[in-house]
Amino acid sequence: MSVATNLVNVMNNIENACNKVNRDLKDVTLIAVSKTKPNEMIMEAYNEGYRNFGENKAQEMKRKKEELPDDINWHFIGHLQTNKVKYVVGNAVLIHSVDSLHLAEAISKESVKKNVISDILIEVNVAKEETKFGLSLENTENLVREIATLQNIRVKGLMTIAPYTENPESNREIFRNLRELLVDIKAKNIDNVSMDFLSMGMTGDYMVAIEEGANFVRVGTGIFGERNYSI
Ligand SMILES: *Cc1c(COP(=O)(O)O)cnc(C)c1O
Repeated sequence: MSVATNLVNVMNNIENACNKVNRDLKDVTLIAVSKTKPNEMIMEAYNEGYRNFGENKAQEMKRKKEELPDDINWHFIGHLQTNKVKYVVGNAVLIHSVDSLHLAEAISKESVKKNVISDILIEVNVAKEETKFGLSLENTENLVREIATLQNIRVKGLMTIAPYTENPESNREIFRNLRELLVDIKAKNIDNVSMDFLSMGMTGDYMVAIEEGANFVRVGTGIFGERNYSI
């Protein structure tokens, strides 16, 4: 299957999921997760009109941004170490994976230095998987309040990585819990916090995520095929 054909299929699925729950297609942005994939494949999606791509390694994202057209929106979706923040701030339109005050402080500091505003999401480990990063549901509001006081940083919403599953229905409750937390925090009207975006859903479960309110779905394998980490 070509990237172009896969994109048609994914967009059809997104449209069907939106129709099922009466959501506007415009409220859902597909992020094509291009990590490990070559520029040629990214350009195949670009030439079909796609402009949102996701990367999980700071230097890889920066390199691709330099090599590829300027009108691409790069989303940083991976675990970010504070010593790599300099590669991401000013290069990513949205950092989806902020999971500590320490990291947020580093992003804030670098954003002040570069005179840019960084939009971020807080990563929540809803399923409490030990192998994954992210805050617990219980600790998220406190972290949001602390980060909201930092300079040049805006909290825009929440992100989660749900467990890998063959049965997307088994992640529905996780997505629903994250949405409920977003609505709860939004209702508190915290300064610098808008809580408009939910980043959830990957190749195995993005349709369920959309039914539960996702605004960003992050699809890699379903667009670009399996990744080969050995090369
Ligand atoms: C790799 C990755 C994805 C895409 O996963 P697929 O299962 O290939 O769609 C989405 N989100 C994050 C955070 C990732 O690291």
